[in-house]
Amino acid sequence: MEPLEAELDRARDLAVDDLADAIESIGFECTRCGGCCTGYAPDEPGGAPAGEGAGEADGEGVAGDDRAGDDGCHGDRAGDDREPHTATVFPDEVREVADAADDALGEAYDWRDVARPMPYGLAEDEDGEPAGETFEWALATDDCGDCTFYEESDGRGACTVHDSRPLICRTYPFSVALGGTSQPMGEAVDGEGMVRAHECEGLGREISRADAESLAAALKERAIRELEEAIAVRDGYDPTAAERADGDVVVFDSEGPKNADGTPVGSG
Ligand code: SF4
Repeated sequence: MEPLEAELDRARDLAVDDLADAIESIGFECTRCGGCCTGYAPDEPGGAPAGEGAGEADGEGVAGDDRAGDDGCHGDRAGDDREPHTATVFPDEVREVADAADDALGEAYDWRDVARPMPYGLAEDEDGEPAGETFEWALATDDCGDCTFYEESDGRGACTVHDSRPLICRTYPFSVALGGTSQPMGEAVDGEGMVRAHECEGLGREISRADAESLAAALKERAIRELEEAIAVRDGYDPTAAERADGDVVVFDSEGPKNADGTPVGSG
């Protein structure tokens, strides 16, 4: 059996109760610091690519410093010296988030408003524009490097697409120890059984059994989904797609090669 298929079988066999036990043991409560939805300084250890923080069950979202920096960024964060928040979003999640943003914000959101080509592996052309092939999509970011759906007001942060936030956001700061699944930025700082916990100031806090079970179920769903995606991307890779693309970037996701605006690259 191929390694990814073997890992997918292991993901499907994960016991939610065991994952919940591990999450309870590690402990977690969102402190609403905003770190998991925003850009980060290069010397910060984690940067937290996606956020449970803004995705708390009560919908309040993360708290943050609502002072606007000189460049209009949340808090005292300056956009030009921070790495952009980078969190994977799958193609069906892009569409779901776009629909949620339409409803929440009252304006039409298209693919590019929600997602950008995952930057890893892309080069820059002579004009400084991204070029090359990449795999999957990252949540779009604003000029400050923050997730485009992150908001702060009166000292409170919020996810404007809370009920439709991607799996990576619903499960931060946890991952499972399976090959082919994604790990949040930063080293795992704690672990229990198959669960890994990554840089987050909310770790170690008491969590209810119900919340741990809910998080565990989402974590299993995410592991399965990531492996299914990885298998589909592997099987759908087309080395000639770049010749037919509309621009200099080709993004491979589980639905095949796409242009940077999310439209499919025509078949050869
Ligand atoms: S979609 Fe929401 S929860 Fe996810 S990173 Fe953006 S603001 Fe945070």
